[in-house]
Amino acid sequence: TSSGEAEFEYLFKLLMIGDSGVGKSTLLLSFTSNTFEDLSPTIGVDFKVKHVTLGGKKLKLAIWDTAGQERFRTLTSSYYRGAQGIIMVYDVTRRDTFTNLSDIWAKEIDLYSTSQDCIKMLVGNKVDKENERVVSKKEGMDFAREYGCLFLECSAKTRVNVEQCFEELVLKILETPSLLAEGSAGVKRNNIFKQKPQPDASTSGCC
Ligand code: GDP
Repeated sequence: TSSGEAEFEYLFKLLMIGDSGVGKSTLLLSFTSNTFEDLSPTIGVDFKVKHVTLGGKKLKLAIWDTAGQERFRTLTSSYYRGAQGIIMVYDVTRRDTFTNLSDIWAKEIDLYSTSQDCIKMLVGNKVDKENERVVSKKEGMDFAREYGCLFLECSAKTRVNVEQCFEELVLKILETPSLLAEGSAGVKRNNIFKQKPQPDASTSGCC
């Protein structure tokens, strides 16, 4: 429980990116379910935390979801700031979600991402709907090669490849010295994740 989970060597910030409806929240929930602490009500941002041991290291992953803001393309630079990994999701049954990744999302990432070496993972979701597929696996692979990112297809529904999407990304982060350095600096800053809500001045300390 929490005392054991409190120990970790690196803290990484990961982001979920992509059009509304592609399955970002479902993927994240599928990956974090059973073990997640949902801190959103506490500090007012939408992310989930998962503790994992990967590559022999104890890690704390803070995975940010867009809370629906991607619908209005209002993700700000603060959403992207300090992310070591980005999961770019499209729906293999909706071509527009795939083309928007290259036309819109990839440009935004390059504009806002502050970690030079930030690792990206392209994810084609909903492969359980194989008979409705319109984006081939090869197209995904070609885009990933061109853009220089990792690539997997998965189904958040059947949970095929869900863990791998996150784990392959994190293993790549662990191989990147500059991102490791950011991750250990993150441990020192981690107290921001533990802050309890401050008592409201109007309701405490009076009389
Ligand atoms: P978001 O807007 O990107 O966060 O997408 P959601 O996670 O809210 O998912 C949108 C819809 O797609 C929901 O109805 C999900 O149940 C559904 N969905 C998500 N992942 C899958 C999947 O892998 N397969 C299928 N068939 N449906 C999925």
